[in-house]
Amino acid sequence: MTPPEESDRTKALLELLFHVSRELATALDLRTVLQRVMYEALQNVGGERCSIVVLDDSGKAVDATIVYGKQIHEHTTQQMRDTMERGLAGWVITNRKGVYIPDTSKDDRWLMRPDDAEERAGTKSAICVPLLAREKMVGVLTLVHTMTDAFSTEQLDLMQAIADQAGIAVLNARLYTESQRQARVMTALAEGAAAMNASLRMDDVYQRVLIQAMQALQVETVALGMIEGEKLVFHAAAGQNAGDVIGRTIELGKGIAGMVSREGRGVVIADVGEEKQISEEDKFGGIEMRALLVAPIQSQGRVIGVIEAINPVSKTFDPDALLVMTGIGGLAGTTIQNAQLFERLQAAHKRYRDLFEESIDPIVITDWDGRIIEANRQASLLSEYSREELQNLSIDQLHEVNWNKTGMEFEALRGDVMHSYESSLHKKDEVHIPAEVHARRVEFDSTDSIQWILRDITERKELDSLREDLTSMIYHDLRSPLANIVSSLDVITYMVPEAERETVQTILKIAENSTDRIQRLVSSLLDVSRLESGQPVADQTVVDTLSLVRRALKDVEPSINGRRQTLVEALPKKKLPSIWVDEDMARRVLINLVENSSKYSPSDGTIILGARTEGSWVHFWIEDKGSGIPPSEQDHIFDKFTRLHGRTKSGGLGLGLAFCRLAVQGHGGRIWVESDTGKGSTFHFTFPVATKEQVARNTHAD
Ligand code: ADP
Repeated sequence: MTPPEESDRTKALLELLFHVSRELATALDLRTVLQRVMYEALQNVGGERCSIVVLDDSGKAVDATIVYGKQIHEHTTQQMRDTMERGLAGWVITNRKGVYIPDTSKDDRWLMRPDDAEERAGTKSAICVPLLAREKMVGVLTLVHTMTDAFSTEQLDLMQAIADQAGIAVLNARLYTESQRQARVMTALAEGAAAMNASLRMDDVYQRVLIQAMQALQVETVALGMIEGEKLVFHAAAGQNAGDVIGRTIELGKGIAGMVSREGRGVVIADVGEEKQISEEDKFGGIEMRALLVAPIQSQGRVIGVIEAINPVSKTFDPDALLVMTGIGGLAGTTIQNAQLFERLQAAHKRYRDLFEESIDPIVITDWDGRIIEANRQASLLSEYSREELQNLSIDQLHEVNWNKTGMEFEALRGDVMHSYESSLHKKDEVHIPAEVHARRVEFDSTDSIQWILRDITERKELDSLREDLTSMIYHDLRSPLANIVSSLDVITYMVPEAERETVQTILKIAENSTDRIQRLVSSLLDVSRLESGQPVADQTVVDTLSLVRRALKDVEPSINGRRQTLVEALPKKKLPSIWVDEDMARRVLINLVENSSKYSPSDGTIILGARTEGSWVHFWIEDKGSGIPPSEQDHIFDKFTRLHGRTKSGGLGLGLAFCRLAVQGHGGRIWVESDTGKGSTFHFTFPVATKEQVARNTHAD
């Protein structure tokens, strides 16, 4: 049987432990829990001074409190380090068991303190026990009495019993504090995210980031730098002396900020005075830096800048300050990137708008229902409608839409190609003017729209009709008188007496050559307008190629000789096949090309005329060593009225090549040019070889 004394003690102990556990269970805040543990220990075990050190999972001291009698002293963790590493607490942590020291002066685990001196409190007795929770060391509890031998091993047991109760409570409180801290970080970040994203204007975004950082960290100054090339440029700052920060640059890799931007890891410098890493680079004029925190601003895994917090108001940074700031840096990165993209987009929009407004072409923008949503100055000028009036019109009120080209619902414009057509534009005064229209899909002010360029082609049309009038004038007013001249010249030849015929004939020959030329020009003009209006070549017959070439050369001989040029024939030995052509047209094509070669070559130059059979075609070419044609012009010279040497003396209408193209194509052939500026040109064309049937029929007809 247990003696009654013993059972009373057990009962008292149980009651005590019950009391302690109830006391501790009602508190969650770490400080309160620690104080209660210490009061319970002092009250129930005795002693004058009690201290407690709390450890984190890695065994580092995270909190420490000391109680003298009824007075609480918050020890900084730093001051407890010595005791932790070398002293009594250190021993308890390493050995994971409690210890009773009856006389501190006789135990070297006790580190001497000023109050241990003989003349002060002198030697003491102490109990030190580990706080264990779920096998984990969460702290050390120490009880000190100013007298030696003040405790007994029983009290050590009692102290250990209290410590065992306290262990769980301290662990819970520590976890609670931790989770509260995380909640605070999360809240700060969530608030930060919401606030930062409220704007997309760059300056606004910078300011919002800074305000969030300042509020979360409670510092005197915050600064924000962005990486630009090999430099970090401070674009924004807030708080004390912020003005001295803006515009500062630091080379990447230099100083703390430069290092953070290069390495992407945040840094806290608790005491700038003691830190050797800090260099001149990090200092901002006007700010006396005591403590500094630099976190990277990251976007898509890349460091794009840094955010700095300088001088916490409470002198030291919170333990989670770096975590919060790194979080803010991450949020800021995304927000800044978004703002940058937005700014770039806006700049692109503005560029388009400027181009649109300044364009020399009249442009209107419509939606996909054809309603005009925007018009530039030129569109207003041309149509004589004000911009507002235009915005009340639809595109088909402004011009005759070619629905075949656009589609009834503009569906043909959905692809990204431009569609062009000629049409007439309806001005406000109801006058219709000819216009060339280019329609295509564009993005305008972020909306999918249609852009219509409406060019006034009144002048071009007038010119065209002038030329058409000219053509018909030449036809009617030149052709018949010319025919009269030609036949009169014929008659005169025979009227001249035999004796004088030779002299007169030379003169008549000149007249004849000139009238031939005029006739050829008139015929070509007529052919151009016929072929252009789509009429087919009607007069095709079987023509002997060689005699065609010879006849053409005879016609150009006078002008070639006149310029002392040499004409070389490059014809195959084998007889060339006959071709199926309108003989007069084919001859004029040859004459035109040889005359051009002569005209655009220097005197004394050589011109080569070649021909060969290529399948069912005869390929002709005329080569010269003249001025040549620039590549950019080679496509145009076959157009009507194109003249490259327009300002030079050589006369011409720019009709010759247009006629050649229409004539050759009218026969189903191809015509092209190969030329190098300054080196000469070779014009090529093909005429169809006459088929056996055509030859047979032709012979028969003869
Ligand atoms: P033109 O009546 O002016 O000769 P063409 O239609 O025959 O008109 O020729 C058009 C333009 O092409 C000419 O003005 C000239 O600039 C250029 N051209 C034609 N043939 C030659 C050539 N053999 N060498 C250089 N330029 C040429």
